[in-house]
Amino acid sequence: MNILLLGSGGREHALAWKLSRSSTLESLYIAPGNAGTREYGENISLDPCDFEAIKKVVLNKKINMVVVGPEAPLVAGIADFFKADKALTNVAVIGPNKEASQLEGSKDFAKDFMNRHNIPTAKHKTFTKATIKEGFAFLDSLKAPYVLKADGLAAGKGVLILPDLHEAKKEFSSMLLDNKFGGAGAKVVIEEFLKGMEMSSFVLTDGDGFKVFPEAKDYKRIGEGDTGLNTGGMGAVSPVPFAEGKFSDKVYNQIIVPTVKGLKSDGIEYNGFIFIGIINVAGEPYVIEYNCRLGDPETEVILPRLKSDLVDLFEGVATKTLSERDIEFDPRSVVSVMMVSGGYPDAYQKGKMIYGLNAANKSLIFHAGTASDGPAVITAGGRVLAVTSFGKDIESAIENSYETIKNIEFEGAYYRKDIGQDLL
Ligand code: ATP
Repeated sequence: MNILLLGSGGREHALAWKLSRSSTLESLYIAPGNAGTREYGENISLDPCDFEAIKKVVLNKKINMVVVGPEAPLVAGIADFFKADKALTNVAVIGPNKEASQLEGSKDFAKDFMNRHNIPTAKHKTFTKATIKEGFAFLDSLKAPYVLKADGLAAGKGVLILPDLHEAKKEFSSMLLDNKFGGAGAKVVIEEFLKGMEMSSFVLTDGDGFKVFPEAKDYKRIGEGDTGLNTGGMGAVSPVPFAEGKFSDKVYNQIIVPTVKGLKSDGIEYNGFIFIGIINVAGEPYVIEYNCRLGDPETEVILPRLKSDLVDLFEGVATKTLSERDIEFDPRSVVSVMMVSGGYPDAYQKGKMIYGLNAANKSLIFHAGTASDGPAVITAGGRVLAVTSFGKDIESAIENSYETIKNIEFEGAYYRKDIGQDLL
């Protein structure tokens, strides 16, 4: 099996690491990859949304399977592009088609889907320029804080949570009338604010059968105690103690099963991972969002726990035989702490030399924003390294990751010191 993996973050390094452990993998190519992925295959410099360039590589390198890491190529229709091209029809794409990717690409689509299938989510309504007055009235009917969501993809910045009604109305108008989020904000979802702990569930499906992966919790804000600006994610933990037992059964029965069945009954073909963002409100699960791919940094904690062969599972997706495949997980805890460039998520410098990567015998170090400079590794992004460790429990996994971090250095390096503390 020759595989082309698209993407360049910590998620893709973790995927490359896991795919490389399969006995059926012959060659792995990563496009564009980073300094970490080159250890497991050949990095190829191309844009994951340039489908013609991907086609050339697929034909040249005799690729059998394309694994899509990030959402952009999925929402842009990479699976449909492969399906429509006779030269590519035998190449499996792991990731949903354009229609199914709307679960992530349009919050309005996702909300309609949840309503249709009785999947618990926050009370909400969608508005456009033409219904702005009804939007104001809906805001009047809700209690603070107010949640406004641009319908389309807005690089994680399209959700506003505002404490004040006046401000919420101002932002709502600006989203619809001043194109604050461009086309992504042509529709705006207003929803009730839910209070509780958040976690994420991950499901791999071939459209019929499905396998539930371990859940994870991520840490979005830059500052300790969940303060400061939002980031791509500063760390993650799996398993999540508050998500086990009865709560996990509710997630399975009220959310996971209706989601997979709902896609099928709507005639939406789905191949790949479904990432379900969930909030625990007094013991009841509500869906905050769907994503059509794995999360980053959640992938860095859930794939180390997968004991089974990931290529085998992906073949199950490609041939619609996923139900027949075995899946097994490591019961130990995994904690990943993200080391980031000084200044991130605002402006930061790149090109800083990274020292101490080889001293990490207790941890797996997944590269996120790194590049090669000859034999050296330099920083090349805001999130730089996901330092990931096993432990017999969360506490010891935390300890192992922070122990490893002590050995790693680059100018301006920053990391949160409280990853997982809220779960102890
Ligand atoms: P991401 O960057 O995770 O892809 P997104 O832009 O797709 O996010 P959401 O996940 O819908 O948007 O919302 C972002 C964050 O806002 C959530 O992780 C959650 O913390 C918060 N949030 C969203 N909806 C609600 C809600 N109804 N009640 C409380 N918090 C919410």
